[in-house]
Amino acid sequence: MIPKGNMFYSIFKNRCPRCHETNVFINKSPCKAGFMKSHSHCAHCGLKYEQEPGFFYGAMYVSYALTVAFSVAVFVAYYVFSLLFKYEFNTLHYLIINMLGLFAFSPIMFRLSRMVWINFFISYKPEQRGEKYERN
Ligand SMILES: [Zn+2]
Repeated sequence: MIPKGNMFYSIFKNRCPRCHETNVFINKSPCKAGFMKSHSHCAHCGLKYEQEPGFFYGAMYVSYALTVAFSVAVFVAYYVFSLLFKYEFNTLHYLIINMLGLFAFSPIMFRLSRMVWINFFISYKPEQRGEKYERN
């Protein structure tokens, strides 16, 4: 259990990075249609999530890093699996498994990369509220 006030609480629970009170995304579940839609402002503290036009383009860098980490993890798991069960390592199988995994986890990766990106710039300050704090 991650305590409120920790950056990882905001990242993994998709909460406002400043107050950790409200959800950033409209749908709580990443499995529903419209999983990309997010609120424009925090209903609790008034933080504007998209700090400037195109702010979340930077989340693509985070998404790239997460994708590489996921692919390496799948590679290691598949390699260990092939050693344990004396299965010949097949690169094509690895690529197919990795592609299916990336496709299945893409909504989670999308949200995670956006939350990591916004948490780079906005820290936990629950005492800040209102429109005068809208710009950081
Ligand atoms: Zn907030």
